[in-house]
Formats: sequence, structure tokens, C-alpha cells
Amino acid sequence: MTDRSGYDLMVIGLGAMGSAALYQAARRGLRVIGLDRHAPPHTLGSTHGETRITRQAIGEGTAYVPFVLRSHAIWDELESQTGTRILTRCGALLLSQPDDGADRGIRTGFLQRTRLAAETFGIAHEILSHDDLRHRFPQFGTAAEDVGYYEPGGGWVSPEAAITAQLAEAARMGAAIRTDTVVTGLSQHAGGVTATTADGATIRADRAILSAGAWVADFLPHDLRPLFQPHRQMLHWFALDRPDLSRAWTDGPVYMWPHGDGQDDFFYGFPSLDGGGSLKVANEQYNALVDPNDFNRVVGAGESRAFYDHSLAGRLLGLTPRVTKAATCLYTVTPDSAFVIDSHPTMDLVQLVSPCSGHGFKHSAAIGECAVLRAVEGASPIDLSAFSLGRLTV
Ligand SMILES: Cc1cc2nc3c(=O)[nH]c(=O)nc-3n(C[C@H](O)[C@H](O)[C@H](O)COP(=O)(O)OP(=O)(O)OC[C@H]3O[C@@H](n4cnc5c(N)ncnc54)[C@H](O)[C@@H]3O)c2cc1C
Repeated sequence: MTDRSGYDLMVIGLGAMGSAALYQAARRGLRVIGLDRHAPPHTLGSTHGETRITRQAIGEGTAYVPFVLRSHAIWDELESQTGTRILTRCGALLLSQPDDGADRGIRTGFLQRTRLAAETFGIAHEILSHDDLRHRFPQFGTAAEDVGYYEPGGGWVSPEAAITAQLAEAARMGAAIRTDTVVTGLSQHAGGVTATTADGATIRADRAILSAGAWVADFLPHDLRPLFQPHRQMLHWFALDRPDLSRAWTDGPVYMWPHGDGQDDFFYGFPSLDGGGSLKVANEQYNALVDPNDFNRVVGAGESRAFYDHSLAGRLLGLTPRVTKAATCLYTVTPDSAFVIDSHPTMDLVQLVSPCSGHGFKHSAAIGECAVLRAVEGASPIDLSAFSLGRLTV
């Protein structure tokens, strides 16, 4: 069956990036169709688990800052349009040893770079001494040498709420959405692109956005596939047992805490969303390369316990090793850990939006908008030159 309805744009993958793109296309009056192999929001890709950290001064590089600033504006607008809570500005705290010039891999100088980004973009922030930290955030077991960067405009975003709101608004404005539809092929021909699906349909559009997350490599030439490596990540919820700190945990900020020089010496987490009963916390795994269609989705009790013992005990006060919930998720990592937002290498009518490693969600609303404008108008309102595919292939 061939769909001859003549779409302006097709979006393949409706997770964080694709739902944002579909919404931005629909609100511009484009005839747009979105396709997904599952039914977003779902728990099988990179965008689930209740919360994602957002911070405006991006230590990973100032080229990201315009994305998060624009994303916050889009979510504010979506919230007022739909009455859905998406973004909670509870503050973001980066705890760190003072920047002493030591080599800490990708985290080297992170606090300094975050501070510099805040100063460059005029983002409200405070640098906190250990005494400040102890008085304002008694829930953290900081050491005498620890310092903090605090950003009051940071906080967390609900990935499920954002995807749901963007898809619902897109549908309301006329976007076609096909879930449980696996795209098995994408080709470019004179005047457009054609997707084929596992159920034998073909769908045509003038242009496409490819936002297939951890599956993006399926749509790339073989030699480029190793540039996008899916890694298994774990999310853990541990019980709290300090009623005297309930208020601090409930009203507190999101936090990121590199506590040593090794790759495992890092974790991040969220305030308690259940009134002081538990906390969601996680670290990052860069040695757990997996096939997104076939990997162990169960977090072992030993995995949670090892994380608790190594990073959390004594740092998150009142946190017990009792796991109340756990989940796996996928980071898709490029060789330099930076995003790819560029034309497809062999199909110039297709815009490629990479799954953006471990910090893409906070930027996703704006990335969707940039991808749409680049696809249909040939230019993005935010400079994408730092995110070219070509930088990884030279
Ligand atoms: C554990 C974890 C913690 C994170 N924490 C943060 C954080 O605190 N802050 C932050 O900013 N970012 C964070 N991130 C990163 C952020 O969540 C991701 O960058 C972002 O969600 C990726 O979105 P995506 O749209 O690329 O992928 P996805 O949301 O996974 O969407 C891809 C979609 O494509 C669909 N698809 C794939 N193949 C096909 C096909 N062949 N046909 C049809 N559909 C297809 C999939 O079903 C899926 O719905 C975290 C990620 C993880 C895994």
C-alpha cells in the first residue's frame, strides 16, 4: 500500500527529539506524519523514568546553551497551552571538588566551564562554599573541600509529559501519527523521500527528520554505524529513612556530583517526588555497549548495591540501600560525546538528529524546532556548526 497523501515532512521516531519536531512542524501548518516502532512515551528507548535534569549553563560547551534556553521557553508555552506540568524549576546544584587542574576525563574543569557559560549568557547562579552548602543543603554529606555551583533556574523536566503534550498538540493541529510502525527502509528520489514499513506500507514526503534514537545507525551507511554506540544505563530509586530531612529532600534541587577522578566516581539525582519516601539517582556507564533490540533490561540487585556503596552511602544523607524501583535506559554515544544535528550523509532531504548521549533531553524541544526549520527552510535559528557529522568522519 502506498500512502499518496503527499506530506511535506515525515518524522521517523517520536521520542524526545521526534515528538518535538512533529509539534514544531504541525504548529507551522506543515502536512506532517510521525512514525514510531513503539507508542511513545514508552520505556524501551532513551526517554523514560519520570525526570530529566535541566540546567541552563551547559558545562559540556556553550554551543548547547541556546538549545536549553529555547527549550525552556517552548515548554513554558506548552504548559500554558495544555495545562500540563512539564518543567519544574527547583534549582540545580553541581557539587565538585575545587577545580585544581587535575585530569578528570570529560569532567575536567566542568564546574569552571559551567560557571563560564553562566557568565557568558547572563544566567543567574551562585558559587557556594562548603559552609554555604552545609547550611543551605543539609541533605548532602559534603566534604570540607567541596564547593558548589547553584543555578536557581535549573531543575527537572518530565520526559513523559513533554512527549505526550507535544504529540497531542501536534495531532490536534493535524499531524498524522502512526505508532507500532517499524520503518525498515528510507530512500531518497527525485522530489522526495520514501519510507517503507515492516507491515509493507510505503510513505512519501518531501523531506524527513530521522530521530530514531538508539536505532539511528540502522539508517546509516555501514561505515558510519560505529559512530553511534548505544550503552545500557541504569536508573535506581532508593528508600529514604530520615524524616527530619524529608523537607530538604522534597524541596531540594537536582544535583550532579563528581566525587573522584575515575569514570565511576560520578552520580546525579533528583529531589524526592514522593514526599521524602525515596530518591531517584543514577551514574553513567560507558563500557556497556549493547544492541538496542536485545539487551538485559533488568537491573540486578547487585548492580544497585554496588552503586550505592561506591557513590551514595554517606553522601546522600538518609538514603538506604533498599531499592524501591529500577530501570534501564539507553545512552547513544558519539566518539567525542557531542551531538550530531546535520543532513544525512547520503540523503540531503533527510535531517539527522542524534540521540544526544546523556544530556539531550533538556535541549530536545529546541532541537526539534531547529531540525524542522533546517529541513523546510534550509537554515536553523541556532548555530548547528558544532554538531556536524563531518567532524567525526575527517
Ligand atoms: C538513563 C538516562 C538518563 C538521562 N538523563 C538526562 C538528563 O538528566 N538530562 C538530559 O537533558 N538528558 C538526559 N538523558 C538524555 C536524553 O534522555 C536523551 O538524549 C533523549 O531522551 C534522546 O531522545 P531521542 O528522541 O533521541 O530518543 P528516543 O526518545 O529513544 O526516541 C527514539 C524513537 O525512535 C523510535 N524508533 C527507533 N527506530 C525506529 C524505526 N525503525 N521505526 C520507527 N520508529 C523507530 C523509537 O521507538 C523511539 O521512540 C538521559 C538519558 C538516559 C538514557
